[in-house]
Amino acid sequence: MSQLPIREDLVGLTPYGAPQIDVPVRLNVNENPFAPSPALVESITQAVKDVAVSLNRYPDRDAVKLREVIARFISNEADVKVGSQNIWPANGSNEVMLQLLQLFGGPKKKLVTFTPTYSMYPDYCRDTFTEFIGLNRREDFSIDSELIDEALALSPDILLFTSPNNPTGTVLDQHIIDYVLTKFSGMVIIDEAYAEFRPVSQRSAIDYVLENPRVIVTRTMSKAFSFAGVRLGYAVAHESVVAACQIVRLPYHLSSVTQAVATAAFDHADELLGHVDLLRNERDALAEWLKEEGFQVANSAGNFLLFGTFADRHDVWKQLVEQGVLIRETGPAGWLRVSIGTPAENEIFRNAMLKVDLS
Ligand SMILES: *Cc1c(COP(=O)(O)O)cnc(C)c1O
Repeated sequence: MSQLPIREDLVGLTPYGAPQIDVPVRLNVNENPFAPSPALVESITQAVKDVAVSLNRYPDRDAVKLREVIARFISNEADVKVGSQNIWPANGSNEVMLQLLQLFGGPKKKLVTFTPTYSMYPDYCRDTFTEFIGLNRREDFSIDSELIDEALALSPDILLFTSPNNPTGTVLDQHIIDYVLTKFSGMVIIDEAYAEFRPVSQRSAIDYVLENPRVIVTRTMSKAFSFAGVRLGYAVAHESVVAACQIVRLPYHLSSVTQAVATAAFDHADELLGHVDLLRNERDALAEWLKEEGFQVANSAGNFLLFGTFADRHDVWKQLVEQGVLIRETGPAGWLRVSIGTPAENEIFRNAMLKVDLS
């Protein structure tokens, strides 16, 4: 077979991919199980219709209207008043993260984060020639100030936190961010993909961005917002960061259709986020149940649970697939992750777990 002359460090690698298996109960990629309501479908359809007549034109390169809508949403939720100059949207927060590494990473730059964590980070570092270092979290998956000291001893250019963290669900203590900001002068990126599921008492790192250009928070519509299919994520940051993002974005990176659909969706934010409380309650109930069944469960503030441990987690995963339930083989050896579904789906998961032969 002929070898393509691709970059040497990419030879033999396989693409990212959670298995997309067509089973009745899919609890593997932390999607929101609730589909858009008929009213929202109607709004989206109208928004697409409105924009369709001008699809011969390139989109608004700067997505100003969408950024204004997001800024209003964030200002309502956070303790700070941000404007469109503080919002940077792209095709999923994954694209935002790649752009941030294109900007702040690169050759001779070092990113330090805390594992187990999101599996895409090493890939973005690889793609941008940024050195990736993952330091192990504590046994309960938390991060303490001694761990921060260890991280800083590595002289990172970027510290990346995920809060709530995927796949563990762990939240980052506020005082750790404060500690980092007193001791570190590099860039601090906080991936808050699951922020909407966090405890109400937990502040968002968004509160830091106006006063501190070195703090960047990323958010997404893929999880709590029930909008994974649209591919819309955004950074909330100091306006100087947003201006810098525009240097590395592809021209017209966000299609007119995406901008229109996402803008329409923010009008229905209350509805889209309407299931967050239910999902939180389901999460806590499922965590209790798993513990009663004798499993370890990581303390989660996301819409998923990491549980275990299993001598052969692949076998458990497979026995669940055979029963029509797809979860995720991820995290440290022996652990599995289940996304929180509808109450009916969670019940099916529980019943399937009871039938798993662990011997
Ligand atoms: C799901 C997830 C994202 C979201 O990615 P999108 O590209 O916005 O769909 C980002 N970060 C983490 C940690 C995630 O788990």
